[in-house]
Amino acid sequence: MRDILPVNGIFEMMQLPYAPEALGVISGNTLGFHHGKHLKAYVDNLNKLLPGSGLENLPISEVIKKSKGGLFNNAGQVLNHVMYFEQFGKEHHEPEGKMLEMIVRDFGSVENFKKEFEQKGTTLFGSGWVWLSMNAEGRLVITQEVNANNPVQSGLVPLLTFDVWEHAYYLDYQNRRADYLAALWQIVDWKVVESRLQ
Ligand code: MN
Repeated sequence: MRDILPVNGIFEMMQLPYAPEALGVISGNTLGFHHGKHLKAYVDNLNKLLPGSGLENLPISEVIKKSKGGLFNNAGQVLNHVMYFEQFGKEHHEPEGKMLEMIVRDFGSVENFKKEFEQKGTTLFGSGWVWLSMNAEGRLVITQEVNANNPVQSGLVPLLTFDVWEHAYYLDYQNRRADYLAALWQIVDWKVVESRLQ
């Protein structure tokens, strides 16, 4: 599972593993604001709220499971965004190996999986995230998580996520959330997704 450990009690701001304008289907403008302003604010707020909470020095997944209110919201949004930004890249845009095997086993085909994932993202009311996760039996599941929620709260191993907060797509796609979701498959790096099974 992708987790994040604080360094000397501080959660560090992640660097994007690509140039903001490199992805194509998301503009450099959207990526720049999303990473540099939205994620930065969540990281700063998390680091402000952590001291005195009793949750200092825990991995972020534990902070998420044990906190409420502002601390929970900011911790959840930090893990959600780090996993979102890290899963994109220039290569490995189709599932293969273990991921392909699991998707075909649990959804019938890659096409069926993508259809259900996009449908769950499109029908999520308001702000939130659509996730692919692995459950305790090793099966793949798709869940809708509202606001800052993350599948770790339900004991799942989170693997892949599409952000459906409007700030993730409005500059590029306006109200066309379905078009944004469909376009993201072009930039998912499935090797990153597969690495989260460990
Ligand atoms: Mn976001």
